[in-house]
Amino acid sequence: MRAFTFAGPSAPARLTEIATPEPGPGEVRIRVGANTVCGTDLRILRGEKTKGVDLGVVLGHEVSGHVDAVGDGVRNFEIGDLVAMPPSLICGLCGPCRRGYEHLCERVHLVGYDVNGGLADYMLMPRVAVAKGLLMKAPATLEPAQLSLAEPLSCCLNGLDNYRVEVGDTVVILGAGPIGMIHLQLARLAGAAKVIISEPHAGRRGRAAASGADVIVDPATQDLLEVVRDETGGAGADVAVLCIGLPELVNECLSMVRKRGRVSIFAGLAGEGWSNIAANLIHYRELTVVGASNSGRESFARAIRLLSSGAIDTGSLLTHTFGLSRAAEAIEFVATREGLKVAVVPD
Ligand SMILES: [Zn+2]
Ligand SMILES: [Zn+2]
Repeated sequence: MRAFTFAGPSAPARLTEIATPEPGPGEVRIRVGANTVCGTDLRILRGEKTKGVDLGVVLGHEVSGHVDAVGDGVRNFEIGDLVAMPPSLICGLCGPCRRGYEHLCERVHLVGYDVNGGLADYMLMPRVAVAKGLLMKAPATLEPAQLSLAEPLSCCLNGLDNYRVEVGDTVVILGAGPIGMIHLQLARLAGAAKVIISEPHAGRRGRAAASGADVIVDPATQDLLEVVRDETGGAGADVAVLCIGLPELVNECLSMVRKRGRVSIFAGLAGEGWSNIAANLIHYRELTVVGASNSGRESFARAIRLLSSGAIDTGSLLTHTFGLSRAAEAIEFVATREGLKVAVVPD
């Protein structure tokens, strides 16, 4: 089969021929229906993300497809089922797993990092994924590319659980990439009265406008803090969600929320993430600062339900499609920021 494998940051990324995996006991093989590209895939290829990434691994962690073969002992899946799974293969035994934060598992293996992923004709769903209920069925009414969005959506749901949106809130989202646009939709579903988007890329500001953001700010020419103050009668926003990995924006987020407001550092920050902040903003204004990383079974199942219900506008998120033979182009295209989610599909 064809597979887009990682040969190291200095080697040209390309499609290679590898053996089609045969499902062993407890394993499930899928015929990949779609794999949406994530910014992380690009960072891996550029050598910006190396921790936990194996040489030779098949990239792609936002994958969905149809069950194509099952190993001995697999009971819950039949040939043709549409399925997807969260990429974190959790241990189930460590402290975070036991406390219910399995997405923060200390002994996790990750699809597309050290487990072969979805930028390929076929993917083998590991035994732990089947046994632990990570592999989930979805209704056949969903297109595979829509179902692939369950991964980023579930990560955003986990973020939302941490930062919360209350009915009537004003929410500021920094960054109108795919993640920012998912937070926009979730903020609306959660009852936000006003969503303010800050985005330096003109094309993305246009998409944010088309997706119903109330106020759109170009941080290159406008003072975001001033806009937020104006839009909230001087009080500050209820929530700020940072979806751009720039450490210098953290203090801006702390400065734009109201007293007792919430700030989500949703994006992983560049480098070690060191950031100069006026920590007294947190102290005197009693702010809540939260993070978010990955997603577990519960948020992934919720993401599938949300997608199945039609509550998420996937059409505005899935902007481009490439055949698998053009996977390298698809990943490079993500770097241009011209689209939002790019789906790689069989060809
Ligand atoms: Zn991702
Ligand atoms: Zn664990």
